[in-house]
Amino acid sequence: MSDLSSFALPHIPALHAYTPGFQPTEAGWVKLNTNECPYGPSPLAAEAIRRELDAEGELLRLYPNPTSAPLRRLIARHHGLTEENVLVGNGSDDVLNLLVRVFGGPDAATAFTLPSYSLYPVLVAIQNGAVKAVEFDRSMRLPVEAIAASGARAFFLTSPNAPTGVAFTPEEIETVLQRFDGILVVDEAYAPFARRDCVGLLAKYPRLVITRTLSKAHALAGLRVGYALAHPEVIGLLDRVRDSYNVNRLSQAAALAALADTGYYDAIIGKINETRDHWLAEWSARDWFAYESQANFIFIEPKNAAGESGPAVAKSLHEFFLSRKILVRYFPSHALTASFLRISVGTDDDMLAVEHAITAWLQTAK
Ligand code: PMP
Repeated sequence: MSDLSSFALPHIPALHAYTPGFQPTEAGWVKLNTNECPYGPSPLAAEAIRRELDAEGELLRLYPNPTSAPLRRLIARHHGLTEENVLVGNGSDDVLNLLVRVFGGPDAATAFTLPSYSLYPVLVAIQNGAVKAVEFDRSMRLPVEAIAASGARAFFLTSPNAPTGVAFTPEEIETVLQRFDGILVVDEAYAPFARRDCVGLLAKYPRLVITRTLSKAHALAGLRVGYALAHPEVIGLLDRVRDSYNVNRLSQAAALAALADTGYYDAIIGKINETRDHWLAEWSARDWFAYESQANFIFIEPKNAAGESGPAVAKSLHEFFLSRKILVRYFPSHALTASFLRISVGTDDDMLAVEHAITAWLQTAK
């Protein structure tokens, strides 16, 4: 490390940046590693962007709406809330970062479960904050008492969880709110694929914050739009620490158009859930263990031809997939994830490619 690092805040040179899933630049991959939507967004989204680019992009001269006000209003209406309950961000990662800026610090821990979305500890480390992790066991049931005893100022809980796909019921989340006395952030990135969500709890629990994204169910990962739903006082705190123009003009326009096209998205979500449940059933019938997923991915523990599972087996299938240009996600660094692969739900053709690769892998292992 050169001397320039000595000018940085002492904790910065020691940071480890978040590792995003591989984004190949060339074509030909079956890309099931970052839970993107396998179908395109509502055509109204691209149309709204084209409209915004009319007259040779003249409008691009102007800053976007600083608060994304029309989008806040539409999101509020969509959830039966008021615009004072909504903040829009540059992806939900931006919103999560704002939450850590407001609530994470060295004096009281910011906590999360393990396994879950691995960005949370990275965001806390950037703020030089204290972290506390609460471990799941293999059942992946919510460790309510451990969360209550965490002593954290803010707890980040993912539901449906990543990478397992396991969703927690609003009743379970309510128990956490009764037993834990800090800020509870429920990251609902995958909630559009789930049977239920926690939005109904907001009216009763001002310490609840829900985060959402348009990257998954709305097929707009490339635009970066996410949002928080919370008590107006919490939204006010988040507004104090965000960039003044944190969501660009094209993203605001496209998100507005997309969110209005509910029929289009209901159909896509229905199709993705049907595909997920079909392949979950198929692979379970092969006697492979998988958690019941309420997200757009399947977290599965493969077995080789000898009927064995474990980290070496998961790694072998992961490598075999790569050799066939199929990208899935492997999380070797935690005991509860190292024997599993996370496969995003793709098109029917994507899933058939996965199935054919599994059959071929079982042949080679014989
Ligand atoms: N939360 C979870 C649980 C996620 O898996 C992801 C996607 N990696 C995000 C948030 C971030 O989504 P966005 O694209 O909105 O930043």
